[in-house]
Amino acid sequence: MISGTIVYGDDFELVDGYVSIKDGIIKEVGEGKVDCVAEGIVIPSFVNAHTHIGDSVMKDVEFMTLDDLVKPPDGLKHRILKETPPNELLSAMESTIFDMILTGTGAFVDFRESGLTGARLLKEVLDGHPIDGKIFGRPAKADYNSLEEFISEIDGFGISSAIEYDLKLLDRIVSEVKRQKKQVGVHAGEKDRSDIKGAVELNPDHIVHLTKASGKDISLIEDNDIPVVVCPRSNFVTGVGKPPVSEMMDRGITVGIGTDNLMLNSANMFSEIEFLAKIFLHDDRKVFKMGTLNGAKIIHKDKEIGSILPGKKANLVVINKKSDNMRGVKNPLSGIVRRARPDDIVALVYEGNLTPKNYLFKKEAKDGYKH
Ligand SMILES: [Zn+2]
Repeated sequence: MISGTIVYGDDFELVDGYVSIKDGIIKEVGEGKVDCVAEGIVIPSFVNAHTHIGDSVMKDVEFMTLDDLVKPPDGLKHRILKETPPNELLSAMESTIFDMILTGTGAFVDFRESGLTGARLLKEVLDGHPIDGKIFGRPAKADYNSLEEFISEIDGFGISSAIEYDLKLLDRIVSEVKRQKKQVGVHAGEKDRSDIKGAVELNPDHIVHLTKASGKDISLIEDNDIPVVVCPRSNFVTGVGKPPVSEMMDRGITVGIGTDNLMLNSANMFSEIEFLAKIFLHDDRKVFKMGTLNGAKIIHKDKEIGSILPGKKANLVVINKKSDNMRGVKNPLSGIVRRARPDDIVALVYEGNLTPKNYLFKKEAKDGYKH
């Protein structure tokens, strides 16, 4: 049992009480005081709806244009990814997995480069960790003749841009992805509008960025009922501007949040929600929903995760309301969005299991440290 102020249900109401858990699933949310293993403000784990954790091998890159940085095949990141030995990449990605777990993320969507080899490497890294990573791979040239096998090993197809592909090839890949009932995610409208129409025509499960979307583009996306993932901190680093978050939400579009490339940002969702609340929305509840339930909707998992309701998985983060940073907070939801930090976390629960306090030591032990 976990108790305290529960941020309950899809509307994130505050309930003073407890969450009981059975077989990894939330059994009941009730009012009143009970004996429990952890106490504090209880929130659903974050869903980070867009990352590239392969970039964990190159932090602190110089500021440069988006194309110089990430455009396939010769942008800086692709050159570095090609040059990095798999073991080094694996270890760097695992550090990010630890960091995501310990900063309250329960699920994430990763656009993984480097074809089948890249997807398999991430699968290996994820094995056994208390986090649900969805691998959105993209086939390398070597995979074009074995697309069926490639797609069977990924959760979705993560497209860098709809206009970077030969249309026939893109159609072939997307048809196979849909035949296998996997998902399609696509970057669009990041530095200009030229790839938005092509992205919508793919009928994807979600579109990432839309920094440059016009009113007309937003209408098109609304009409086609396509969810969107925004990555505002990333957009600020690459200097492409501010995505029209309020406009999209006002039209009823489901908007989630991603921390994007590890070379640009940490994968810490507390930073992303604080940034969004202060620079974009001034609406803590909406921002909180973007970082939890909307992310779950984007990966079609909102019946299982994204909020605290009986029947959903017990993926929870418990925040200390008495820390020097949090004490005095009158509205716990606003406190979480605007000021909570990873060091305010007192407990993490994944599918009903408490993540051990010394979880990070496991990695250090593996790296050769003694405890
Ligand atoms: Zn991206």
